[in-house]
Amino acid sequence: MMRKHSKEFLQNLTPYQGYELLVEGNKRFVNNLNTNHDHLEMINETREGQYPFAVVLSCMDSRASVELVFDQGLGDLFSIRVAGNIVNDDILASIEYAVKYVGSKVLMVLGHTECGAIKSAKAGVQDGHITSLLGRIQPSISKAMLSDTSNHLFTDEVAYANVENSLEEILTRSEIVKEMFKKGEIGIVGGVYNIENGKVDFFKNLTKRKKEDKKVAASV
Ligand SMILES: [Zn+2]
Repeated sequence: MMRKHSKEFLQNLTPYQGYELLVEGNKRFVNNLNTNHDHLEMINETREGQYPFAVVLSCMDSRASVELVFDQGLGDLFSIRVAGNIVNDDILASIEYAVKYVGSKVLMVLGHTECGAIKSAKAGVQDGHITSLLGRIQPSISKAMLSDTSNHLFTDEVAYANVENSLEEILTRSEIVKEMFKKGEIGIVGGVYNIENGKVDFFKNLTKRKKEDKKVAASV
């Protein structure tokens, strides 16, 4: 098998295969079948450079660590974390860097249940810099009222709406992401992590499967 942390691996990986790596990784996590990540080996493998296959924007919540919930190791993911997985200019720049200059194949926004930032936004908390961050979550509260929840695995409408809101902001504000997505160079995924059972609901998958997409080895 091709080494996961190599330029060739990333270049040959399709967006859909990248999406599947996340799905399989979360299955391993939920079933407690985590890959035995050898820390020294991971350091050695990645010392020459990084080839992360996905960039994930998620919340800072200590229970929703992306490397753990997708059973990934050093060098596998770009992890952007901020309270309430909101979007701002610096986050857009980080995403653009990941997909355009490093070649990550999947962009994922991951929300989670029981999010403190969402709860505070609902409660209208105002304090220091927190006020403006919560302001970015506010649109999701009203959008949740309009959303179709029939395909949601968990009951947390605002968490879902907030993921959609961030995806919408990324696509409207980043020409780079929009163009690469239109050309099929990257996939886009929205998910909600359930802190009660470790499952990720991949409720939004805008990543198209192509005929030539074979499943990548399960061990990856
Ligand atoms: Zn949160």
